[in-house]
Amino acid sequence: MEIFKETFEKGHEQVVFCSDPAAGLKAIIAIHSTVLGPALGGLRMWNYKSEEEALTDVLRLSRSMTYKNAAMGLGLGGGKAVIIGDPHRDKTPELFRAFGRFVESLGGRYITAEDVGTCEEDMNYIAQETSHVVGLTGKSGNPSPVTAYGVFLGIKAAVEWVFGSDDLKGKKVALQGLGHVGMEVARLLTESGAEVTAADIYPDRVKEAQEILGAKIVEPEKIYEVPCDIFSPCALGAIINENTIDRLACKIVAGAANNQLKDENFARRLMDRGILYAPDYIINGGGVINVAEELSGMPYSIERVFRKLSVIPARLKEVFALSRSEGITTAEAADRVTEKRFEKVVA
Ligand code: NAD
Repeated sequence: MEIFKETFEKGHEQVVFCSDPAAGLKAIIAIHSTVLGPALGGLRMWNYKSEEEALTDVLRLSRSMTYKNAAMGLGLGGGKAVIIGDPHRDKTPELFRAFGRFVESLGGRYITAEDVGTCEEDMNYIAQETSHVVGLTGKSGNPSPVTAYGVFLGIKAAVEWVFGSDDLKGKKVALQGLGHVGMEVARLLTESGAEVTAADIYPDRVKEAQEILGAKIVEPEKIYEVPCDIFSPCALGAIINENTIDRLACKIVAGAANNQLKDENFARRLMDRGILYAPDYIINGGGVINVAEELSGMPYSIERVFRKLSVIPARLKEVFALSRSEGITTAEAADRVTEKRFEKVVA
């Protein structure tokens, strides 16, 4: 891989390869941008098939964090880190402490947090070596309920844009993924009078949704075809692709999953089909608002975090309006609205 070709094209400032044989650590930290502030973004631990795959992932994810943090108005830049290893097999306190020393060596340019494959306990080990870590026990903790509430507010904003009122009573939702975020989104929607049809690959999640929420359940492959007002992807990335796009029978796509579109062309195809897409990095920004609260210098306050979530519907409405007035996709409009924030700082 030609690393500088990639970093020049996508604008990354720094890529750090972290090697500690005694601790078994192979990690990469990518700082995409510190224009708006120190680069905040989670640490992913994944059994990557190759070093190149890990590098590609960290470069892509760190850039998304720049956009997400800017869109949420956080005064933070974007970064991300990956550890190459199996999170079920290779975790040790020494591994995370070694990683923490590399974070410390960056002097606060990068702040780490939980992501796929890492948890609060891992962050506590990192905190033994550096103060540039958030998501710690006794502080912001698990971000999923906050992310879910932000998604719920985003769905209401999209519903208001399309139907003229944000009332969810009787609205039909097809929800993919009943995990930490999806189950809570399903609960909030059901309590607001929406009719939720859901799918998950784990029978216990499905049972809980059926028994506690009274949700209708379909097979995972059938969720795309459920006739509904809102399709809410809360599981995997790249689920809007050539195999699914023509099967969607909805007016809105709005959910928690990261990188929902396989690529940017699918934003145009959704638009051409008359489906409003709520850009993922805006609607799912509640989690980062939650961890960033630890950096405010004030004691963590869940009430303050919930108040700050109002940025999500506000930003989405700005994006929907720009998309309509310029005839561009909502994905493009989201990038334009967000990039304006960097331009102001650079100028
Ligand atoms: P999770 O692992 O708790 O939940 C994901 C759920 O999706 C699981 O129950 C899993 O069984 C299900 N699933 C996987 N493949 C599926 C398929 N093919 N069909 C149906 N269900 C399937 O994860 P989470 O924390 O709830 O996050 C969900 C999504 O939201 C992810 O894309 C994540 O990156 C994104 N996200 C999460 C947060 C957060 O605060 N947790 C913040 C921002 C974005």
